Amino acid sequence: ELSQRLQTIGDMVKPGHRVADIGSDHAYLPTYLIQKGIASACIAGEVNRGPWQSAERQVRSAGLAEYIDVRLGNGLSVISPGEVDTVCIAGMGGSLIASILNEGCEKLAGVQQLLLQPNVGAPLVRRWLLAHGWQLSKEKILEEDGVIYEILEAVPGNPELPYEGRSLSREELVEVGPYLWQEKSPVLRKKWEQERDKLKSVQEQLQRAKNPEAEEKKREVAKRLTWMEEML
Ligand code: SAM
Repeated sequence: ELSQRLQTIGDMVKPGHRVADIGSDHAYLPTYLIQKGIASACIAGEVNRGPWQSAERQVRSAGLAEYIDVRLGNGLSVISPGEVDTVCIAGMGGSLIASILNEGCEKLAGVQQLLLQPNVGAPLVRRWLLAHGWQLSKEKILEEDGVIYEILEAVPGNPELPYEGRSLSREELVEVGPYLWQEKSPVLRKKWEQERDKLKSVQEQLQRAKNPEAEEKKREVAKRLTWMEEML
């Protein structure tokens, strides 16, 4: 059974697209995309030998070698410009996702859709998109097995955030996600309550610190907590 997280990403792929799944591990996402008839062809990229072999095995045992090309290599180096319509990068930190996009920038020419699922650090991904001509076009948030996941879709175009009905600053929107903020789902609220609780325990630890450097940190944390309380 495919996780709800990967299924949600898979169902966001535009039908008929050729897809590269970077950091594919077991190639579960490409397998789903081909079996469901969503993608016309897939490339599963892996930088590590173990996961690359798992992907190879999975594709062969599913009998999908004709449709899924498993390639060993770092980030977007495994694709040529114009080879795919959609790039998926899921299950990594936002800083790694942003650096993979950044290093492989020229491979994104012709790509019509990015599907990115940062485990942490989604703001880094949103900032990268804004700075590189990608329009954030959809956001989803979901909880599975007690973990909250955010999925971002971007398309080439206007690198501006939708500001409609905003009550947050631009930077705050980048933090929270403009569509997620508009939707205000219970999962989003839960995520930010968790963030607030984490920051509160940081604050409690800081209260005990006596060094002068802690003072500035205390102010920063207090400011951020006020922002979170207001937002929630
Ligand atoms: N994408 C799958 C998912 O969401 O379930 C697998 C996620 S797994 C936690 C992350 C995978 O990314 C690992 O298999 C790792 O080897 C691979 N990876 C990490 N850095 C990478 C890079 N620069 N290029 C390609 N793959 C990478």
